[in-house]
Amino acid sequence: MRCELCPYRCRIRDGQRGYCQVRRNNGGRLETATFTASVAHLDAIERKPFYHFGPGSKVLTVAGPGCSFRCDYCVNHRLSQYGREEDAPWTGEPARPDELAALAHAQGAGLALSYAEPSLAPELTLALAEYARPLGVPVMWKSNGFLTPRAVDLVAPAIDAVNIDVKAAEEAPHQRLTGAPLAPVLAAVERFRAAGVWVEVSTPLIPGTSADPGQLRAIAGLLAAIDPDLPWHLLRFTPDFRMSAEDPTAPSALEDARRAGAEEGLRFVYVERALGAEGRNTRCPHCAFTVVERGIWETLDNKLADGGCPSCRAAVPGRWETQQ
Ligand code: SF4
Repeated sequence: MRCELCPYRCRIRDGQRGYCQVRRNNGGRLETATFTASVAHLDAIERKPFYHFGPGSKVLTVAGPGCSFRCDYCVNHRLSQYGREEDAPWTGEPARPDELAALAHAQGAGLALSYAEPSLAPELTLALAEYARPLGVPVMWKSNGFLTPRAVDLVAPAIDAVNIDVKAAEEAPHQRLTGAPLAPVLAAVERFRAAGVWVEVSTPLIPGTSADPGQLRAIAGLLAAIDPDLPWHLLRFTPDFRMSAEDPTAPSALEDARRAGAEEGLRFVYVERALGAEGRNTRCPHCAFTVVERGIWETLDNKLADGGCPSCRAAVPGRWETQQ
């Protein structure tokens, strides 16, 4: 059996698991351990992070186990690097998509898959969308973007917004950091956008790879070539997992990266923490008026009028309706 979900395209013999350890061949039937909600957590949409999609909304985030990457720094490694034993029965408590959609709706929240890798959970994503969409509840992903084009086409109609990690500008450092090739990730950014999904990008500043100033500038250049209006989130590294001895990212490195992003042409570059409000606010790209003010993990003031700057009327790209 060959799995077509991610670019590894694992050939899985009967009784074996794929590289992700959460999908396996059981007598010719592909099983997955990801139709589960191991975590369910309500928080602000700014924490995913999404800054140009539903500002001020709440999000019910759920996660199954597993990831297709093997990053040494992963803060969610207890969930993302979890895999089922080869011969263990797959009897995890299945998620109830109808209950999760109803719970999100009752909270006035959207639904997100995050913490582990949502691209390993297309079945759960499609099932959540089936119940969430009729209730007006948007579905979001925080993803590594490591999917085949066929998989993107399968899930894109069920997803309203995705934040994709772009962790390097070249294949060698991306392989070193994640264990996976970069090209499919960049292709997924473009394919989700072409399918009408709202896309934002995140880059964690990981010592030894993505924190390199040359890598950061080159990532910004790649993103600006796709679209200068792609929101780019620079994420501070915090010591964890196999990189617990490293230092956290210095604020000056985040400031340098933010400046490099702007110099490469990106119009919306964000730093959630470490640079204060100036790292989080959205300015009109035309007249520099502050159109959205954010605190740490929350929107404080959204001054946009019909998606435009109230000062000069220029359109500010985003999907600005707040989920109530
Ligand atoms: S999703 Fe898992 S089983 Fe499928 S190709 Fe990727 S690593 Fe292999």
